[in-house]
Amino acid sequence: MKVDASVAAIVTGGASGLGEASARALAAKGAKVALFDLNEERGAQVAAEIGGIMCKVDVSDEASVDAAFARAREAHGQERVLVCCAGIGTIGKTVRRDKETGEISHLPVDLFHKTIKVNLMGTFQCVAKSAAGMMTLEGLEDGERGAMVCTASVAAVDGQIGQVAYSASKGGVVGMTLPIARDFMNEGIRINTILPGIFKTPLLAGLPEKAQESLAAAVPFPKRLGHPEEYANLVMTMIENGYFNGETVRLDGAIRMPPR
Ligand code: NAD
Repeated sequence: MKVDASVAAIVTGGASGLGEASARALAAKGAKVALFDLNEERGAQVAAEIGGIMCKVDVSDEASVDAAFARAREAHGQERVLVCCAGIGTIGKTVRRDKETGEISHLPVDLFHKTIKVNLMGTFQCVAKSAAGMMTLEGLEDGERGAMVCTASVAAVDGQIGQVAYSASKGGVVGMTLPIARDFMNEGIRINTILPGIFKTPLLAGLPEKAQESLAAAVPFPKRLGHPEEYANLVMTMIENGYFNGETVRLDGAIRMPPR
């Protein structure tokens, strides 16, 4: 799909990090971009810079998602592009023993639920609602109606210690990619998923600088964290290259997560 001023795009998590970079890349090609994010203040700032709009939304809440889609479509028309980046990182082993007290506790079930609700259900919800809207559009060249890109993580497949809920949520995103591509194979709607390694975004801000340095050193080549613009480049390729479909692609400098 050629991205230009005729294309309306929605980017979830567009107020920050990988979503922000993707929104900027789409806007640079002229697309009308709607940012879907919880962070209204930051989203409004980015939207103003790229000539887009900000729609405050909690992707895990269906009513909130419906309202955001209605707002975006009223402003820009039916979207042909959806990029899903909204997500949270959660840490916690299934069961852990406290080093000092010896106490054994398990990962709180509500934390697991929340992670699945935001990262997996939030993504599914946006994908399903966007695809339903795209089905009302006329097809472009090759009958293409729309293109979607989702964000998983290498954690979906690498088995990181202490990331059971996060890995499960991202594994779900990987697992739904090909079945969804097949669901829409007669409708001209494509979907692909990226598995980022470690990118320098506010998601990592909680980690001490030293920990970030050792993560960067663990990347075989290049020995650094990924730049959000490098992520956005792949998003644009997946949108613009009509032969990309049903794929899950690592973007990680060949890192395989070491156990922590
Ligand atoms: P980020 O924290 O910079 O951006 C995430 C954005 O999602 C934020 O603006 C936040 O407000 C928004 N968000 C969170 N919960 C939301 C909700 N319920 N509804 C709407 N918006 C919500 O993080 P990032 O690094 O840009 O991460 C983007 C995606 O990439 C996430 O799904 C993350 O899991 C994934 N990822 C990131 C990395 C990395 O190294 N940065 C690695 C692997 C996967």
